[in-house]
Amino acid sequence: MERVSHRICPLCEACCGLEITTLGDQVVAIRGHKEDVLSAGFLCPKGAALGELHADPDRLRRPLLKRDGAFVEVSWQEAFAEIERRLPPLLAQHGADAVAVSIGNPAAHKLGLLLYGAQLSRALGTRNVFSASTLDQMPKQLSSGLMFGHWLSVPVPDLERTELMLVLGANPMVSNGSMWTVPNFRGKLRTARARGARLIVVDPRRTETAKEADQHLFIRPGGDAFLLLGLIHTLLDEGLARLGRLAEHTAGQLELAAAVAPFAAERVAARCGIPAPAIRALARELAAAPRACVYGRIGTCTQTFGTVASWLVDVLNVLLGQLDAPGGAMFPRAAAFAANTRGPSGRGKGITVGRRHSRVSGAPEVYGELPMTCLAEEIETPGPGQVRALLTLASNPVLSAPGGPRIAAALDSLDFMVSVDIYLNETTRHADVILPGRSPLHDEHFDVAFPQLACRNTVRFSEPVLPPPPDHPAEWEILLTLLAIVRGQGADADLRRLDDELCAEEVRRAAGPMTDAVLAQVASWRGPRRLVALALRTGPYGDKLGQVPGGLTLEQVLAAPGGIDLGPLAPRIPEVLRTPSGKIELAPASLVAELERVQAALDEPAPPLVVIGRRHLRSNNSWLHNLPSLAKGKPRCTALVHPQDAAARGLRDGGQGVLRRADGPGPGPGPGGQDARAPSPALIVDIELCDDVMPGVISLPHGFGHDLPLTRLAIAAARPGVNLNAVLDDQERDPLSGTAVLSGVAVELTAP
Ligand code: SF4
Repeated sequence: MERVSHRICPLCEACCGLEITTLGDQVVAIRGHKEDVLSAGFLCPKGAALGELHADPDRLRRPLLKRDGAFVEVSWQEAFAEIERRLPPLLAQHGADAVAVSIGNPAAHKLGLLLYGAQLSRALGTRNVFSASTLDQMPKQLSSGLMFGHWLSVPVPDLERTELMLVLGANPMVSNGSMWTVPNFRGKLRTARARGARLIVVDPRRTETAKEADQHLFIRPGGDAFLLLGLIHTLLDEGLARLGRLAEHTAGQLELAAAVAPFAAERVAARCGIPAPAIRALARELAAAPRACVYGRIGTCTQTFGTVASWLVDVLNVLLGQLDAPGGAMFPRAAAFAANTRGPSGRGKGITVGRRHSRVSGAPEVYGELPMTCLAEEIETPGPGQVRALLTLASNPVLSAPGGPRIAAALDSLDFMVSVDIYLNETTRHADVILPGRSPLHDEHFDVAFPQLACRNTVRFSEPVLPPPPDHPAEWEILLTLLAIVRGQGADADLRRLDDELCAEEVRRAAGPMTDAVLAQVASWRGPRRLVALALRTGPYGDKLGQVPGGLTLEQVLAAPGGIDLGPLAPRIPEVLRTPSGKIELAPASLVAELERVQAALDEPAPPLVVIGRRHLRSNNSWLHNLPSLAKGKPRCTALVHPQDAAARGLRDGGQGVLRRADGPGPGPGPGGQDARAPSPALIVDIELCDDVMPGVISLPHGFGHDLPLTRLAIAAARPGVNLNAVLDDQERDPLSGTAVLSGVAVELTAP
């Protein structure tokens, strides 16, 4: 008999509610769940393909062990026994830093990986933690932390009430928001425009979002910080800044004014490629709008001035008086796990960076991790602290990080590698043991991070859609077993007891002598569900463990399959702030200092050709290319080239070109006296002529290059595409956040 279940989609940040019809273990249909309090029936083709992920014959169901260079299926006991045989001696001989951890984007959508991955990293005690954050959003988290006091205090646009929205380097028509959970952006935008709201998009490509906009401005890739400085300078210069009620909650206005003084619109115009009159007109239009918001995303982050650009977006929101105002950029109030709802409100410890540094490049730690672009050199470079073993959690740096071929070679030199992953892919093929997570349909789910970034306050919990296979441990149990091995308790440790101990440790930090009483309140739960129950009850809407009758509990959330609506975003300043000063820090010292580097780059000429990425509705980084309904259709891994650039190089539509990085002066010799950068291979790319890109810019999506041996991705391998990241410079980083420069990298494109 058919069964209908509801589940939060785990495939992107929009977190849509799905209605899934199953018959036995088969998915019969997937629709948007109309009663879902966040997405109200919306879904995209990726969500509709979740059944294909579940049924994918290439999805791993059993652990794999590499024997004589080939993978064989083994039992869970054998897999864990191998890890127990090899990992502890390595730790004992070389120390904690010899084991690195690499965490991928999908981990953010897996409750077990998210909550227990952090516990495992802590147990390992390694400084060598890497994640996709430094290929993506870390600049926004760092600038938010410096300004507002916590890494996840990120203001998001209040699209439903705004009258003018300025979008830089983001394509929410395709992404449905990033660092901004906004399912059905298209519908919300059209509603907003029907009531008269305007959208202005700044992007080197006329994106799907730019095509919906009232105005689109081409910008030279990597020019966002310059444009934003020109806008801020204009506001201050023309007396248009209006902080309103924010004034008493803001520090650093004078320092900011002094810092931006060199960046008049006329001075930055050439560097960003937007004429000064257009910059001044845009600043005036923003200032004149009663309700306006500014939003920047991937293009503003993955560039050499990523943290500066991310900071300036919110400086602009503050100076416009639109931060924390309806229709402006607002702070969500999540029901659980949000640090900006915990402890004393309005003031806090702020954030700390650089508590340690990477061994080879000396890159500072940011939010507990090191730059992903340091992974290869930490494996390659001998000496104390050299990385000799790697644990990957849903992470595929061979395709998603610059210098992929170098990373692949480095992985081959490891003494030991374990991957927790559902696929045998370009990275996990290097592992000695692969431990597959369950299908999302076999897993319970609660979004830990995304309600902290959502366009509306809601809370939802998804029960497993299908009963999990009895012999397949959940990801939190897999990680707990690894943790037991690391702690010397062995793979046969009593996981229930270990989980109790870890939970008690966690509770003790907050509750002290009340720990036993607190644990008694959630005694019926175990694993991630117990942590969720605790977080909800002690959260801002919670029942405070019985002290607030009627307050939120996990039982209430479980009883509402479409979730519980907690209302529209509401002003939260000063309560949301966790800076030591209790103010919005408008001019953090490290960001002001970085403006010297920005100033030095003001007159940098534009390279003849640079490359930018591109996102497609049916793709998400490297890991959805094996699903038939998402892979079919027109090839997507094409290089968009402006006809002028094509003509100058003798390239034609539908033909091919040879793409290489255009190596300028490198960052200096590495430890061996060689250029520290990974060499650039020559990629044969398919050419698509298109005047949606500005002259001097080509666009190629990343996450492709599925033609490597020993993978098990039949559909992806049939249309492999090329690995853009292979040509990018793995030594180019935003120095503050450690985030890779993926956008605006100088390249050469020639006829074959
Ligand atoms: S927009 Fe994202 S969350 Fe929504 S259905 Fe598509 S992939 Fe899933």
